[in-house]
Order: sequence, then structure tokens, then C-alpha cells
Amino acid sequence: MKALRSKNPITELRGVGARLAEDLEQLGIRTVDDLFNYYPYRYDNYEIKDLAEVQDQEQTTVLGKVQSSPLLNYYGKKKSRLSVRVLTGRYLISVIVFNRPYLKRMLSIGDQVTITGKWERNRATLAATDFHKGEPDQNAQWAPVYPVKAGVSVKRIRTLVKQAFKQFPDIIEENLPASLRTAYKLAGKAQAVHTIHFPEDQQHLHQARRRLVYEEFLTYQLKLKAYKRLKRASETGIPFSIDSKQLQAFIKSLPFPLTQAQNKVLSEILQDMAHAAPMNRLLQGDVGSGKTVVAAIALYAAVCAGYQGALMAPTEILAEQHTETLRELFRPFSVSVGLLTGSVRGKRRRELLEQISSGAVQVLIGTHALIQPEVHFHQLGLVITDEQHRFGVGQRGALRLKGKEPDILYMTATPIPRTLALSVFGDMDVSTIDQLPGGRKEIKTYWVQDNAMDRVIRFMKHELDQGRQAYVICPLIEESEQLDVQNALDVHGYLTQALPEYSVALMHGKLTSEEKDQVMEAFKEHRAQILVSTTVVEVGVNVPNASLMIIYDADRFGLSQLHQLRGRVGRGSVQSYCVLLADAKSETSREKMRMMTETTDGFKLSGYDLKLRGPGDFFGTKQSGVPSFKLADLVHDYRTLNTARDDAARLVHSEAFWKSDTFRLLREPLIEMGLGESSHLD
Ligand code: ADP
Ligand code: MG
Repeated sequence: MKALRSKNPITELRGVGARLAEDLEQLGIRTVDDLFNYYPYRYDNYEIKDLAEVQDQEQTTVLGKVQSSPLLNYYGKKKSRLSVRVLTGRYLISVIVFNRPYLKRMLSIGDQVTITGKWERNRATLAATDFHKGEPDQNAQWAPVYPVKAGVSVKRIRTLVKQAFKQFPDIIEENLPASLRTAYKLAGKAQAVHTIHFPEDQQHLHQARRRLVYEEFLTYQLKLKAYKRLKRASETGIPFSIDSKQLQAFIKSLPFPLTQAQNKVLSEILQDMAHAAPMNRLLQGDVGSGKTVVAAIALYAAVCAGYQGALMAPTEILAEQHTETLRELFRPFSVSVGLLTGSVRGKRRRELLEQISSGAVQVLIGTHALIQPEVHFHQLGLVITDEQHRFGVGQRGALRLKGKEPDILYMTATPIPRTLALSVFGDMDVSTIDQLPGGRKEIKTYWVQDNAMDRVIRFMKHELDQGRQAYVICPLIEESEQLDVQNALDVHGYLTQALPEYSVALMHGKLTSEEKDQVMEAFKEHRAQILVSTTVVEVGVNVPNASLMIIYDADRFGLSQLHQLRGRVGRGSVQSYCVLLADAKSETSREKMRMMTETTDGFKLSGYDLKLRGPGDFFGTKQSGVPSFKLADLVHDYRTLNTARDDAARLVHSEAFWKSDTFRLLREPLIEMGLGESSHLD
């Protein structure tokens, strides 16, 4: 095996002294390789155009002849404005150049000039950002633009990269084996890197990008797959002995038969649990697809095998609701269920903690209170998190540490297109419930303008008169002042007046948890017929008699969130409705509203949402564990991602990958991260 090539420090580059090296370090550039890998995020296009083809306000480059002697004005301190008439094609235009007074001396009538700038058609003016005498520089048609900080300019980086190619023409090593390059017709690494900095044209740029994106995805997927392989091979987890008789008895006791989809994911989960390697599985299913009962069965399996189970929910309301549901399901089987949230205090808390550590509590449900240091389990075997995207990577990890390599199941109702989920969370296995329990009627969704409230009230009254209930969702109360959004209090007042014969409850984040409980209780027991709420009710709340969901300022919410909210209704057998109130001034907003009225398929909607918002927003913060790529884009390059995932999986399970020199450069980073060893090769 060849020794690792030592990296050339950036100071070896001609023209880089200690000062500049320091500034470059701010950009993460320490070596010549770092510089090569410092890709532009866009290009200035200096392609010569005829103004007839250029849109108003568009950036362009034109070729022309000077027609007047330049006029120079000074204003302010050291500020100047030069204007000159230039003939380009059929157009006689004014060219304005700021703060370059010296141009006046250099220009004479008849001179040929190349100008880049913004075209203002109405004033027949080009505001120049670049102006030089003579023909354009042929190689500079596409000029790279780099992210920079004070101290280093874009131009400086361009020069340095050029210098690096001159001085170190051979240090970029090919890290993809010929087999993969041939299979996908990928450019060589050195060529691709050169092109990404200095593309000759769109076509070459596209090819370079294609190669580098694939490489980026492949190296990422290799890490995930190598990690997964290592975990799989490990036998450090708990091989639950699952008593299928007991389990069948429990499943028979449920108030309904499981759907086919529930059965399928359940068997995937139980298989993982029986295996000695720790389970690391994502369970996704649309709102109302019945994930809770699947979780209950898995928890019961853990309890029967002599272990404790934990279920972590993002809000107290949801934790309480799960507790109620599970206590009900487990009652005939005498499984003891504990609830731990921030509002369990004092003596009750001490007793509960004691029962958790003694093992008297077999299933513990709670909020992130579960991961506090004073919580000690007797023998935690299975950890489930509900609405996994609500928790950061750290919080999820902390719960895992409460046991000795427990099995982990992450549940989410923000369905990610399955293949994307597999690719992004490549270290997890993914189970999908792709079917709703039968007998549900599709929720009818309408989009109306804010000013149609009278009609909405009449419709609401009609529903309430038949004994149904309604949710009315307002945007966050805290933000109402700045954002000029409808305030939950106002809406509450308004509805109380408009529908005096009904009781309107009010729920928002400023209530104490006892108050929230009381409000929720009143709504569940039908003492209140309307629940006005901020998005506190977003996740999980289950009141089957509610048949109407009204969402104010609906265009302020993301698609996935709207879908979640809508999922609060349609839980019983009656026809349910969702009314979206929105002015929807922007095209994106209208698009969102249209999608909501057209489909109730959460997977479809999340696919749209991903496109509308981009992966960064969609997956939430960096915490979600979704990687950021330099060039690759999860949505745009989605197919490449899937290809790279399959290739990575195949490679890490091949002997050649771990032994042959062909794969050395792909393998080395994995070995450095400790992802290489394994007791046996599979
Ligand atoms: P989610 O996946 O959104 O968490 P839940 O687990 O809350 O969904 O289930 C939604 C509703 O559907 C609950 O009232 C639950 O009792 C019911 N349910 C779950 N599975 C089935 C099934 N197989 N048949 C009929 N109803 C079911
Ligand atoms: Mg749920």
C-alpha cells in the first residue's frame, strides 16, 4: 500500500505569504488540495450578447465602439461617475462606470470596448461592473465566483487557483476506480476539478459537476454503509426472545385488525428486535396511518422479553395522549405504564424515578424529560421516538445512552419519499406504512380568501349543528404583533360572538400545562365544540368527533405542516373538511394551496414541499443530521444520490473494496474514521 501523500501547505503556492495564508485559513483553505476543492458557487457569464436578446435588468456582456468623449463627474469624497456613449450592434447606449476616473484618459472615440453590466432598457443604459478596452478575453467567458470573507477577494482566489494548476498540475489524484468512471461515463477527477473552476461552456460544466456530485454522494454513502455494516456485524445489542403466542394474543385484543402495511412494518421491526445487532430503524407513515399501535406492539414484545421500553414524544399533550392510549391497550395484560414530563414534580416524581430504576414501570412515556440525568432505567431494551424530526441528533442519542445498546425506532409523520429517506438516513433501515386503515373518507379541502369568513361561519355552524366539532388554527401568538397575523385571542373573541350557542375553547403556548390539559379535556369530552389554537395541536392529537379544520393564514405554513394539521380531522367515520383561509399573494403560496386541495397523500405533498423549500428548510436545522454537500443538491441530484447509495452498499460488502489498491482512496477515509474493522466480513 502506498503511503499517504503528504499535503502541500498553501504557503508552497507562489504568492502566498503568511498574511494571506492566515486569511485563506479563515475560508478553510490550508493546503493546495483545499484550494482545488474550494468550488465556486456560481459563475459570472461574460458571453458576448446582442442587446436585442437581453432582457431588461439582465446582466450581460457586449462589444462596442466608443462614440463620445467620456464625461467625468466627481461627487462626495473620492467618488466618481463616468459616462460615455457606445455603439453596440444597432444600439447607441450610455455606459456608466463608477469610481474608475482613470478610464477617461484611456478612452478615445472609435476605441473598441468590452462592457459587462446590467441592462436598463428604458434608459438605454448599461451600468458597468466590468469595462475594458479591446476584445474580450476568450477564456474568461465564465468567471468563477467564490464565497469569500474580508481579506480575500474573488479575484484573488481566481488567480490563486490558476497559479495552483500551473505549479501543481499533477497533484489531484483520481479516487474513483476506472470501472465506475466507465460505467457512468464520468470525467476524470483532475479534469473535472479544472472545469468546475474554469468551465469552457455549459456542456463541460455539466459534465464536471456530474462527476463531482457523484463522488460527493458516493463518499458520503460509503461512510453510512460502512457504519451500518459494522453495526450489523456487531452482536452487542439485545437479541429479544419474542414470544409470538403472547404477541398474537395482544394483537387479537386490539379493537381492529391491523392493516397489511402495519403487519409488514411490524414484522420488519420484530425481526430487528430478535437480532443481536442493535435496531436503528425509521418508521414513517402518513398522519393517521396507525403508527402508535405498531409502537405499542413493539413495546409489548420488549416487555414480554423482560425489558423496559421508552417512548419519547415532542410535547406534553402528545405524551399524555400516548399514555392514555397505551394504558388502555395494555390494561388486560397488566403492563405498567409511567408518564414523565416536566410537570410531574415533587413526591410523585421521586416515586416515579424510583419505579423506573427498579423496573416496576415497564413502559415509560414522556417528553424530553426522559433524557434528564436523574432518569435511570433498570433494563432499557427498546427506545421509540415519536415525530423524530422534532428532536435533535443529540437528544435522540441521549436516550439511546439510557440503556446498553437498546433497539431504536424513530417514528415520523413527515413522510419523506422513501428512496430519499433511505439515501439521506442511509445508516438507518426504513419501514413505511403506505396505507391508511380502511373506512376512512377522504378529507375534502377548500381554499378560500380571508374575506369569505361569513360563508365559513355558516359552514361551521352547519357542521356543529350536527354534533361535530371544529379546530380553528391561528399562527403563533408570540409572533402575531410583528407579523401582523391573526391573533388567537381575536379569533376566539370573534367566534364566541359569531356562534353564541357554542362553547369556544382557547389553546396557546402561554398556558400552563394544567390549563392546556383542561382545555384539551373539555374539547375531548365535547364540552367545547370549537377549539381555537395556535399550532400546539399540530402533532398527534386524536379527537375522532372533530370533522372540521379551519386554518387561518394557511399560506404561512409549510405544506407538511398543513398536512399534519389537516390530519387532526378525518379520524372518525364521518365526512371531514379542511378549510384553508389565505390570500396567497405569491405564486408559491397559490401553488401550495392548490396542492393541498388536490391531494391528501402525505408522501406526494412532502415531495412537493421538498421541492418548494429545498432540503435545508425541509429537514429543519442542521440538527436533523442531514448532511450539507458542496455541489450536490438533494432534490436536483436525487437520482445520482440513489445510484451512489446502491454502489456504496455493494462496495462495502465486497472484499475487493477493503483489499484492492483500486479502492485505496475511497477506503482510506473510512479506515481513518474507524469504520474499517469488522470481526467477520459479510
Ligand atoms: P399516527 O400514525 O398518525 O400516529 P395513530 O396511531 O394515531 O396514527 O392512529 C390514528 C387512528 O387510527 C387512531 O384512532 C387508531 O386507533 C386508528 N387505527 C390505527 N390502526 C388502525 C387499523 N388497523 N384499523 C382501524 N383503525 C386503526
Ligand atoms: Mg402519531
